[in-house]
Amino acid sequence: MNSNAAHFEIKKLTEEINLYDYQYYVLASPVVSDYEYDLKLKRLMELEEQYPLFVLPDSPTRRVGGKLAGKFKSAAHGVPMLSLGNTYSFQELLEFDQRVKKIISEPVKYSVELKIDGVAVSLIYKNGLFARGVSRGDGQRGDEITENLKTIKSIPLRLTSDRAVYYPEIEFRGEVYIDKDHFNQINRERGEEGLELFANPRNAAAGSLKLLDPKEVSRRPLNIFIYSAILPEEMRPASHFETLSIAEKLKMRINPRRELVDDMEGVKDFADRYLAERDELAYEIDGIVVKVDNFNQQAKLGATSKSPRWAIAYKFPAEQATTRILDIELSVGRTGALTPVAILEPVKVAGSVVGRATLHNEDEIRRKDIRIGDTVFIEKGGDVIPKVVKVVLEKRAANSREFVFPDSCPVCHERLVREPDEVAIRCINPACPAQVKRAIEHFVSRDALDIAGMGEAVVEQLVDNGLLSDYADIYSLTKEQLVPLERMGEKSVNNLLAAIGESKKRALSRLIFGLGIRHVGKNTAETLAERYGSLLALKEAAEVELAEVEGVGVKVARSVVDFFKQRKIAIILEKLTNAGVRMTADRSVATGFLADQVFLFTGRLTAMSRPQAAEKVRALGGRCANSINKRVNYVVVGEEPGSKYEKAKKMALTIITEAEFREMIEKGEIVHED
Ligand SMILES: [Zn+2]
Repeated sequence: MNSNAAHFEIKKLTEEINLYDYQYYVLASPVVSDYEYDLKLKRLMELEEQYPLFVLPDSPTRRVGGKLAGKFKSAAHGVPMLSLGNTYSFQELLEFDQRVKKIISEPVKYSVELKIDGVAVSLIYKNGLFARGVSRGDGQRGDEITENLKTIKSIPLRLTSDRAVYYPEIEFRGEVYIDKDHFNQINRERGEEGLELFANPRNAAAGSLKLLDPKEVSRRPLNIFIYSAILPEEMRPASHFETLSIAEKLKMRINPRRELVDDMEGVKDFADRYLAERDELAYEIDGIVVKVDNFNQQAKLGATSKSPRWAIAYKFPAEQATTRILDIELSVGRTGALTPVAILEPVKVAGSVVGRATLHNEDEIRRKDIRIGDTVFIEKGGDVIPKVVKVVLEKRAANSREFVFPDSCPVCHERLVREPDEVAIRCINPACPAQVKRAIEHFVSRDALDIAGMGEAVVEQLVDNGLLSDYADIYSLTKEQLVPLERMGEKSVNNLLAAIGESKKRALSRLIFGLGIRHVGKNTAETLAERYGSLLALKEAAEVELAEVEGVGVKVARSVVDFFKQRKIAIILEKLTNAGVRMTADRSVATGFLADQVFLFTGRLTAMSRPQAAEKVRALGGRCANSINKRVNYVVVGEEPGSKYEKAKKMALTIITEAEFREMIEKGEIVHED
């Protein structure tokens, strides 16, 4: 390829991938498969490595930059980021409206938006390119967190409007947040690892943005909603609401749940609707924001030193309640870790009845001194699992009792284990039905093999009916087995089986994640898939080598090696292989040292099977031939080789022994002919 062609392709791939990111992360409607996406990204990385001069400033490969040495630089906001006045009472909202009407005589329209419970940031684009990101800080100055914000894929690195590029500066302001599902997942993992838990999604988002290593930040599923823009004069419309539409056209992610209303009746209606629907939203909201829409009117109203007079936050009632802990039960997780759960006297919190709250782990119970029979404050936000905030000690009953961890698993009754450097107490029985169910749920989950129609209830039913004893059994389910089950119509069975079939083609990283290797999250799975290219290569990887892969480390390496040592896992892998589940990344863009080398095996290999050897070749970028031909670069000869060996000699092909082949693989170098 000449450099012109490379330049052109780099440009094209950069545009395409940025567009895919926009479609996926902003519009939530992906148009390409993960697989196609991965191919293009890998191709771009390859080209960029070869032609570093052509790397574009908005290249998707530049989203994760290098570590920061000291602390963040501080940066001043051009226009102060004021906080909003807020109220919980509708009466005060009416008073706000009266104050506005005192100054503005013409009709006033209000823009109403959801108040996302996140962290406010400012994004500055220079000549169309994302140039600087700053946290709100004290409103006057914040931390420059550009590199961390770049990791958020819903933030475009380049504004996609021909006009945008002519403006030296366009500023957007938005709220960075973590959605409820991811928040719960992060805390669950932290709980299992004995790390301190985040109090709420806002703290999790704030904590993530403060990390000094963008690589770490990119592992946190952050997202953003833009809520305002400071546009150049020439682009500026008359109102805030129109500004949001322009920002949307520039490919910014704006919450579609926004309205323009004529009066406080309209505001109340909007607020009531979302107070009722808040549980169904993917993210946490703590109220709504009401803004005078017209910019001239805003200017007339002005601001105090702390907050604008033209906007107010109308907050939803706090979601705390007091209740009593009736009992503490243990729930068994996917890795066998036991999570204590408080069984509560049912209490209404923010519109729904709560009967359980997570206590995370034994240390958490100790730290908060939680006892059975205690009166406690509980807190709940949307879907976020309710939690016990603290004990009301004044109300502690004389007969309250401390919770004692049992010696055996509440589900399978096997003995429990607490490893010395761990907080979690585990059931280590691999056949424990609770663990089996959780492992299957994980395997079919959205970020793993993504099998629609296999919710918790279905998994429960299939395990209890003896149809599944591990997640690999999913692939041997038949229509005859499924149709007689309760709540399983013929149509849903067909859909489920189709979804199962579809899942065999998922990206390697999803499979690795779905296996449920301890400490291997979604991002680590991606790293491993990229580094090893096939499940077999990962399985055979040595611990020391794994530990050196960037972003893996000793703990994960140990866990991966231990995982593949299990007999149970060997059986599962065999079942998955037989079912035809894809276990390799795509090879057409492989960059291993065997790229373009063709191998042929003949005779019996002693240290590995023939398919294993072939897999290794493919994992390192090479190919395997079935018959002798001129294009074969290496003929690997095992014991008792057949006629192919004779032919190879006649054709004067390069012949190597199995030992030489292994040496080549291990050293990562091509053996040259003498
Ligand atoms: Zn158990």
